[in-house]
Amino acid sequence: MKIIFFGRPGSGKGTYASRIAPHLGIVHIATGDMFRAEVATGTPLGKLAEGYMKAGNLVPDDVTINMFKERIAKDDAKKGFILDGFPRDLEQSHALEKITKIDLVVNFVIDEDIIIEKALARRICEKCGNIYNIADIKRGNIRLPPLLPKKEGICDKCGGNLYQRKDDNYETIKDRQDTYVRQSAPLLEYYRQKGMVKDVSVIGGPEQMVPIIIDVIKKSIK
Ligand code: ADP
Ligand code: ZN
Repeated sequence: MKIIFFGRPGSGKGTYASRIAPHLGIVHIATGDMFRAEVATGTPLGKLAEGYMKAGNLVPDDVTINMFKERIAKDDAKKGFILDGFPRDLEQSHALEKITKIDLVVNFVIDEDIIIEKALARRICEKCGNIYNIADIKRGNIRLPPLLPKKEGICDKCGGNLYQRKDDNYETIKDRQDTYVRQSAPLLEYYRQKGMVKDVSVIGGPEQMVPIIIDVIKKSIK
């Protein structure tokens, strides 16, 4: 199975992908996570990417596409994958097309104002990257409960400290939304015209969403 998870930054796709990929026996490839790892270890690639990430801009295509090509060429990607954060513009999607054929694009639908509230409340484990969220959102039929660790500020999985991502501040979050509308939304129309897109409304937390998404995937890919 070769699947793209698509949607606004902060739509929850990273959380869903990290849970669903192991369930389907495929790998989760997140270019944002890969860039953050490069930044954390201070590689030349990380140093280059950091400024773009802070500004909520896309890292240049040639750099991103090269990094992605190396990742997708690894053995574990042969059994299938969920792409999270790639492709993010038309040039990246064309590069992807030359590498492999995608079965399905799952598009997560959620309003920008909810995303912003949720994104400001995101916390990440500094050791293992596990994601938590401290906001409790109720609006109409939408109910996004918090995703709290058992002990405040500490990761359940590994005991690491939780932190707020540097790029999870209001300005950058808003810039990332604008970048999405400008550069990534046209990509969605491109996939839609090819009949590859299944829309999924984000109405609940991961516990509620994960089975819904797995169902959509199993019905769409035989
Ligand atoms: P979010 O979904 O909150 O934007 P990500 O972890 O997907 O977070 O990405 C963080 C940042 O990494 C992006 O804002 C961008 O600067 C960079 N990035 C991630 N994926 C790509 C990509 N495919 N192309 C260019 N830049 C990317
Ligand atoms: Zn952890």
